[in-house]
Amino acid sequence: MAQLIDGRLVSKKICENLSDEILFLSKKPCLAVIIVGEDPASRIYVNLKRKKAQELGIKSIVEQMPTATSQQELLNKIEQLNNDNEVNAILVQLPLPSHIDTKAVLEKINPLKDVDCFHPYNMGRIATGTKPYVYPCTPKGIIRLLEYYNIPPQGKHAVVIGRSNIVGRPVAQMLLNENATVTICHSKTANLAEITKTADILISAVGQKNLVKPDMVKEGVVVIDVGMNRTDEGKLCGDVDFYGVEPKASFITPVPGGVGPMTICSLMQNTFDLYNIQYNS
Ligand code: NDP
Repeated sequence: MAQLIDGRLVSKKICENLSDEILFLSKKPCLAVIIVGEDPASRIYVNLKRKKAQELGIKSIVEQMPTATSQQELLNKIEQLNNDNEVNAILVQLPLPSHIDTKAVLEKINPLKDVDCFHPYNMGRIATGTKPYVYPCTPKGIIRLLEYYNIPPQGKHAVVIGRSNIVGRPVAQMLLNENATVTICHSKTANLAEITKTADILISAVGQKNLVKPDMVKEGVVVIDVGMNRTDEGKLCGDVDFYGVEPKASFITPVPGGVGPMTICSLMQNTFDLYNIQYNS
């Protein structure tokens, strides 16, 4: 039977420490979130972030912009926040409406305020094995879970399924920087199961329920399930067939309660870290 990797517990501890540190600051860290349009899921995520920030004593500003916002208007808004000394961290909630070039928008954010680590300066630093200002939230949460459960990646074969800029690519690079031997799989990978069967650490960031089945993993594997999907009954579930895979794994994250809580906790930690970099450098 696997040990459960409890993201709720670990994130609670990190957030408690963070809240203690913020309590003593006369000037509080400030996170600005820009949301363009009316996407209901984005609104839920933004509200969760605002609530968590409030809980921890972080000031949050939400800039709600209409769907018809032009790219230039959005770039101007980012410019304004880049120049605002009261704002320490900027997050643009994705996805953006299709008429906006997401890449151009993310590149407009000052790398020193790039709380999601999407700017090529910060991503490039990870890719070259150097420290970015802050690490991307979900990958950072995953690395912290491995640390907390004393699972050093060094020398292990880590297989990452998914190559998005938000999870797959950066987590693979961060594991490489931690001296794991890393394989990245994606939708065009041939013989996925043959590769996942060789994983000591398996990270699935795809968004497809039951993608990872028991015959795709070896005994003792550490499974990190990033996926967020819905069962036919409407319940939240990951990419991994949890009940099938769990008996073979040594450690496994549940969904919900695994990686999810770590992501929002990393966002708060990143806001605080950017605040410290800006005021102490
Ligand atoms: P993307 O859609 O951007 O990327 C999905 C990746 O999965 C792509 O690289 C794609 O390959 C790959 N893929 C798709 N189908 C297969 C397949 N059959 N076999 C192997 N690889 C496949 O998603 P995200 O990275 O943004 O998110 C992934 C999942 O993680 C989603 O469920 C999302 O909701 C969740 N998520 C959860 C977070 C959390 O905090 N828990 C945070 C962020 C995301 P290709 O590149 O070839 O298209």
